[in-house]
Amino acid sequence: MIRTKGRACAGKRRHDTEEQAEDHRDRLIANGAVRLAAYRCRNRACRGWHVGHLPKPRI
Ligand SMILES: [Zn+2]
Repeated sequence: MIRTKGRACAGKRRHDTEEQAEDHRDRLIANGAVRLAAYRCRNRACRGWHVGHLPKPRI
């Protein structure tokens, strides 16, 4: 069994693809969220995409 205890992605919504993560991000931003970004999860046990805050925009 693989556990992700204590990892950054614990409790976060996971997306299988970047597209899904960006769609989720867009909805959060439309609801008034601050700057958010979709990013690839570092956790090997996860390998998904998450939406979170970034200190600097990548663009
Ligand atoms: Zn993750």
